[in-house]
This record gives sequence, structure tokens and C-alpha cells, in this order.
Amino acid sequence: MQVPATFQYEKAASVADALALLARYGPEARVVAGGQSLLPMMKLRMAEPPALVDINGLTELARISVDGDELSIGAIVRHAELLASPVVGEHLPILRDAERLIADPIVRNRGTVGGSLCQADPSEDLSAAFAALRAVLVVEGAGGRRNVAVRQFFTGPYETVVEPGELLVEIRVPIRSHASAYQKVERRVGDWPVAAAGAVLELDRDRVREAGIGLTAVGAAGFVSAEAEDVLRGRPADEEQFAEAGRIAAQHCNPVSDQRGPEDYKRHLAGVLVTRALRKATARSRGEEA
Ligand SMILES: Cc1cc2nc3c(=O)[nH]c(=O)nc-3n(C[C@H](O)[C@H](O)[C@H](O)COP(=O)(O)OP(=O)(O)OC[C@H]3O[C@@H](n4cnc5c(N)ncnc54)[C@H](O)[C@@H]3O)c2cc1C
Repeated sequence: MQVPATFQYEKAASVADALALLARYGPEARVVAGGQSLLPMMKLRMAEPPALVDINGLTELARISVDGDELSIGAIVRHAELLASPVVGEHLPILRDAERLIADPIVRNRGTVGGSLCQADPSEDLSAAFAALRAVLVVEGAGGRRNVAVRQFFTGPYETVVEPGELLVEIRVPIRSHASAYQKVERRVGDWPVAAAGAVLELDRDRVREAGIGLTAVGAAGFVSAEAEDVLRGRPADEEQFAEAGRIAAQHCNPVSDQRGPEDYKRHLAGVLVTRALRKATARSRGEEA
């Protein structure tokens, strides 16, 4: 039986209370949201925080709402809530596509959007989807709030710009007219991706005004293929460009061989999935989705 080391447990009543508790217990204290990543690590003694600050009672961080031309997603919104949200389904189908394939219903019922981003696992699906969407993450600490572009949020595997004593409180996503889709290959239902790609396109008739290409599990810096985005910008939204963007994305990512597959297979998948995501996003925007 795996048992965590001894720790203090505190249930925060508000964001201010959570920040005060984090300050009181010091830099080794950890926030717990859904606990789907942190608790297994504690049971394996890979993490031994002296104190856990539980943020599950912070209802102000549990909302999905439209604020002007942005969608606001609170940090403790569960995967299952994002999946079920009509406004997400209507405006940001890339998130619905990704959520359908994240883990299983048990993990999705507990795991949170903020916990996923803060865990910063290099195979995380939402990191790639939000990177494609150019989301802005709102981080709060004793000194107030700061906005961080998602592409600057991740500083390395399992590392982000969130400092000890800070909380990720909100994710903000522009909802101007996007075409978007997410494509993933997993070894079996509920597994982490072997590779996955998200595509977001702003189209001007049949040309690409702006593109967002997210990649995960293939060593793409910041979960982005900037090179594929460059190939698409200002060009026709057609099969030839989508194939070229896939080829460039595959060329510029850095997958490693592991139990999910060899490096060359993952690189191949990255290219195929970028092309498929672009094709699906465009078909959706033309009302041609199967
Ligand atoms: C069996 C299984 C399968 C999975 N499959 C997939 C998959 O296919 N794709 C995928 O992308 N993910 C997958 N996951 C990961 C899952 O999505 C994450 O474990 C989970 O959503 C993390 O969120 P959480 O709320 O549980 O975070 P927690 O475990 O509570 O926290 C994770 C980390 O983030 C910190 N943290 C949490 N919230 C905040 C906050 N608001 N501010 C600052 N720090 C915070 C914690 O201190 C901790 O360090 C899987 C997990 C499991 C257990």
C-alpha cells in the first residue's frame, strides 16, 4: 500500500485565504485542486509537501462565463464541466474535442483545468489546446494579479511561471470567429496521447489570416509549432498548405522514444495530426463537418 508522508491539511475559504495559508506554510506548501496528479505523486513519495491548501471550496474559481469577447474559465472548473459547457461547444470546439479524449470519466469529474495547466506534464492535452488558442492565464499572489500569455507560462517539463505562494485563478480565451479542432492518437481509451495536435484558424474568406498550432507529447517548445503557423499565415486554407504545415510541424518537433512509441513514429503522427486538425477545423467553419 502506498501512503503519503504526514502533512497539514487546510481548506481555503476564499482566494485571499488560500494565499494567506500558502504564505503561512511557506514555499514547500502545495495547492490541491482535483488531486489527480498531486495525490498519486504524494503516495509514491515523489512529492512530500508539509501542507496542502485545498482550493475546492473556492466557488469564485468554478465558473465558465462570457466576458465581452472573451471566455473566462475559472481555475477549478472540472474537465467534465468544460466538456459539457454549451458555450465552449459553440465557440471553442477544440476544447470539447480535447476534453472528450482526456483520461476517463472518473479523472474528468475531479481533475481541474487549472490543475492540468499547473502540473505542466509534457503530454498534457489542454496545454496544447490553450496554446493554439493563445489563451491568457491570470495568476494571483500577495502582490495582486498578473496576466501571462499561455505561450510564456511553461518554463520546462512540470514547471511553470507560477511561484510558490501564487495561484492560477482564471484562463481567458478570445472567442472571435475561430475555426478549431483537436486530434489525438492514444494507445487505448483514456490514455495519455502518443501525440496530439490542435489547430485554430482565423479565416478571411478562403485565406488564413492567423493560425494557432498546438502540439503535445512531441517535445514542441511551449506546446506550439510556430514554424507551422508561419507556413499558414496569409496563405490559402487548402489541402496543399495543410499538408505543408504538417510536414513542417513534424520536422521541427522533438519527440523522444518511450513506452508510447519510437521517436520517428511520434514525429510522423505529429505531422499527420496537424494536417487532420486543420482539415477538420476548416470543414467545421464551412458547415461541412461529418
Ligand atoms: C489515469 C489518468 C489519466 C490521465 N490522462 C490524461 C490525458 O489523457 N490527458 C491529459 O492531458 N491529462 C491526463 N491526466 C491528467 C489529468 O488531467 C490531471 O491529473 C488533472 O487534471 C490535474 O488536475 P488536478 O485538478 O487533479 O490537479 P492536482 O493534482 O490537484 O494538482 C496538480 C498540480 O498543480 C498544482 N495546482 C493545482 N491547481 C492549481 C492552481 N489553481 N494554482 C496553482 N497551482 C495549482 C498543484 O499544487 C499540483 O502541483 C490523467 C490523469 C490520470 C490520473
